[in-house]
Amino acid sequence: MRKVIIVGAGAWGLACAYACARAGMTVQVFEAGKIGSGASGGVMGALSPHTPDQWEAKKQMQLEALRDAGDFWAGVDHLSGLMSGYGRKGRLIPLATPRARELALMRIDGAARLWQGEFDWQVLDRHPLVSPEVMPCGVIHETLSARIFPARAVASLAGACRALGVEINENMPVAALGEHSVTVGGVVVCADAVILAGGATGFALLDPHAPFVTGGGVKGQAGLLACDLGDAPQIYADGVYVIPHAGGQVAIGSTTEKHYADAAGTDAQLDALFTRARAVCPAIANAPVIQRWAGLRPKARRRDPMLGPVPGLAGIFTAMGAFKIGLGLAPVVGGMLARMVAGESVDLPKSFTFAHHMEP
Ligand SMILES: Cc1cc2nc3c(=O)[nH]c(=O)nc-3n(C[C@H](O)[C@H](O)[C@H](O)COP(=O)(O)OP(=O)(O)OC[C@H]3O[C@@H](n4cnc5c(N)ncnc54)[C@H](O)[C@@H]3O)c2cc1C
Repeated sequence: MRKVIIVGAGAWGLACAYACARAGMTVQVFEAGKIGSGASGGVMGALSPHTPDQWEAKKQMQLEALRDAGDFWAGVDHLSGLMSGYGRKGRLIPLATPRARELALMRIDGAARLWQGEFDWQVLDRHPLVSPEVMPCGVIHETLSARIFPARAVASLAGACRALGVEINENMPVAALGEHSVTVGGVVVCADAVILAGGATGFALLDPHAPFVTGGGVKGQAGLLACDLGDAPQIYADGVYVIPHAGGQVAIGSTTEKHYADAAGTDAQLDALFTRARAVCPAIANAPVIQRWAGLRPKARRRDPMLGPVPGLAGIFTAMGAFKIGLGLAPVVGGMLARMVAGESVDLPKSFTFAHHMEP
């Protein structure tokens, strides 16, 4: 039995807590605010794959995460008695140019081979959900993509963790990391291992132990409309996501802002997204806005996640840098970190290691 401390109760911290608890470890979570008060408390939740070409380790890791997501969230929801909003409904990608159509057609074979016949990648001439004006060259329909409702999913994950005996302490910010320890509430608390999953603001705990600034936040704005699109697939059109959720809600997102004055505020950029989304999907043309939301995506020094042991700081591991794909990768990241803190060796894509991020 190992004792593990986890810093942060977002999707990654809770996925790590869940996996460690299932492996029989004693787990204590410290969260600065409330469960899901970081990027994971939002409304988007697209679980979508990389394109099926130029295959590499991180695409394979993501495929495995997406393939197994249904079982993962079913298990979580079963334990918590809550609903993560998971559904594998697929995705539509309108094709605006002949070149985009040509590339989409070339990827049919790649999808058949790499997705091992489990999921389809088709190129259609049209789809009733998408405005003909944005798909002059057709539309991709792939059946691998899924969605969760992030705020509900983290609530469900927290419920499942508690059902497994995890202690989650809210409003308890960790002030510093030490070897096998954290300082919280003026007290040093020790464990066999500490997993830092502190999202965008959590990098500040790591910076004193690294030669470079380890990461920061990239703001995103998103919103929720009231509209029941049933089991419709999500749409990804030229940077705009339209995600039909269960229960008559549709999420629209997201902006990508490196520079911002107010991390939590929304503005005219979100209104512009609503306008573009309504042009893509006429079924939401008159749907009222019911929520506006903004959060900070945790981005590590380099673009990819930063996972595993921190060199020179014994007993500290990171589950950081979830950036734009954190909700999709959460189950697999949790499993990997649980194996790492148990002392198992885990094959990581090189670009996901701490060492990669610390290269000059
Ligand atoms: C607008 C928007 C749209 C997005 N859409 C998608 C999408 O469609 N699909 C997808 O996969 N991803 C999406 N993402 C990204 C996704 O939300 C993130 O990758 C993911 O939620 C990050 O999870 P996390 O647990 O690493 O961080 P967070 O959810 O930010 O959690 C970190 C937690 O750590 C806590 N914390 C920080 N410092 C401390 C401390 N010192 N002590 C204790 N606790 C601390 C914070 O309070 C926070 O609760 C989106 C993000 C945004 C902003």
